[in-house]
Amino acid sequence: MSAVDSSTAPSRTATASLLRQFGVLEPAFTHGDLIVRSPLNGAEIARVSTTSRGDAADIISKAQSAFLAWRIMPAPRRGELVRRFGEALRQHKPALGHLISIETGKILQEGLGEVQEMIDICDFAAGLSRQLYGLTIATERPGHKMLETWHPLGVAGVITAFNFPAAVWSWNAAIALVCGDTLVWKPSEKTPLTALACQSLLDQVAASLNETPAGLSAVLIGGSELGEELAGNHLVALVSATGSTRMGRAVASKIASRFGRAILELSGNNGMIITPSADLDLAIRATLFAAVGTAGQRCTTLRRLFVHEDVYDDLLPRLKQAYGDITVGNPLEAGTLAGPLIDKQSFEAMQASLAQAREDGGMITGGERVHAGLWPDAYYVRPAIAEMMRQTEVVRRETFAPILYVMRYREFEEGISQLNGVPQGLASSIFTHDLREAERFTSSTGSDCGIVNVNMGPTGAEIGGAFGGEKDTGGGREAGSDAWKSYMRRATNTINYSDELPLAQGIRFDVPGAS
Ligand code: NAD
Repeated sequence: MSAVDSSTAPSRTATASLLRQFGVLEPAFTHGDLIVRSPLNGAEIARVSTTSRGDAADIISKAQSAFLAWRIMPAPRRGELVRRFGEALRQHKPALGHLISIETGKILQEGLGEVQEMIDICDFAAGLSRQLYGLTIATERPGHKMLETWHPLGVAGVITAFNFPAAVWSWNAAIALVCGDTLVWKPSEKTPLTALACQSLLDQVAASLNETPAGLSAVLIGGSELGEELAGNHLVALVSATGSTRMGRAVASKIASRFGRAILELSGNNGMIITPSADLDLAIRATLFAAVGTAGQRCTTLRRLFVHEDVYDDLLPRLKQAYGDITVGNPLEAGTLAGPLIDKQSFEAMQASLAQAREDGGMITGGERVHAGLWPDAYYVRPAIAEMMRQTEVVRRETFAPILYVMRYREFEEGISQLNGVPQGLASSIFTHDLREAERFTSSTGSDCGIVNVNMGPTGAEIGGAFGGEKDTGGGREAGSDAWKSYMRRATNTINYSDELPLAQGIRFDVPGAS
């Protein structure tokens, strides 16, 4: 286990110099009412000012005015802004990756990976800005043409969770901007600094493109009341909300009551099946990255492992050995694979779930707090394996911490039905060399999740595909594929270029006296 090097330990001074690199200037991070602490050592690293609800409403109203100008800018010009933002991210990748690490506790490699994901979505969106195409559709009426056109939608409100403080916003922001929408972002109150840094970079890029309207993009700093403002404000055409299912339920009803549009990206409880034909070496490596990466705080984190009884006794000791070899410690140091949990509340939730699993007859390995002497205000844990006889209530709910519940299965059908037998439906995977099992798993009667992988873990999605999940995960899709359609308004146009007025369905409606 490693110790935090004092030269890299998060502090107010170190954070200030990092934030200045993005053009964020005092007093934005020195004199506010929201104290920001780093999960690495629990130290206060900044104080930011929260946005009042009244100010939030004004910001939304400005974003609506900006929309009226932005929607008439040609989409490829909008794409140019996003392309330049991607360039700015390339330049600032090391610093932004570092900031993400000290604010969330994820290891530096993952912080850098998050920035790369932002760059990737900017590249994707820049290309997309020349491909926002509709259809022409055969019409039953002679001398007519029918087509679909896609138009900018309005203000896009983006609510994000602490664990991906930048990438999730960028999936929405890059696509929304090329689609002609303006942005109001409500980041997690646990990670406001990454948001300030990203917003500052985007502001600078926008200033370099003369035609960009003021108010194109803004950040609201604060708690759930600002998310509620986005959900309830009728000027916000689309709310893309990422976070817990609890949060999703609260915002979804508000948005629905005013007939707003919602993209909901909520909790996951992701499963993986290891079959008798699996390559166990690969399966163990995939399990480690998927279950331990980001200290178990990814929405796609592997939480439930179903191992066929023929390979269980071979796999489990090897998996436990691999868990034992993991370095838990300073996420900025090379070699660390698991950093701290975000806060004390998260640690307590983990301990409560482990206690419940024990009560349910589970056998627990790991899960204890480490480095408490070194950093009494930070919460580092050994990732836990909980061997369970069956999928009890605690297994069926998401605990946002590194607990891997492991269960045996005998019949393939039973494995699939256990995997699907939870309220959430985000990510899943199978390890098998049996073609029939792989095909069945990815078929309509296989996994019921939005992400269904073969011979790899459930985590680590690329931006080219649409990302999201079913059931209590909310049903939203964002990032690649045709997810852009959620950020635009579709119009069906029928154009009559004849001298007649034929009605659809052959209806006759003869007006007396009309020739
Ligand atoms: P959270 O639900 O506590 O908070 C998420 C965001 O919602 C924050 O910005 C918060 O201020 C806001 N919020 C909370 N309650 C609200 C309310 N009633 N109205 C409006 N806004 C509200 O989640 P978290 O702890 O930051 O993140 C962890 C959760 O997010 C996990 O459940 C994880 O699975 C989920 N998550 C999902 C995805 C996905 O793509 N499906 C991605 C990342 C995280």
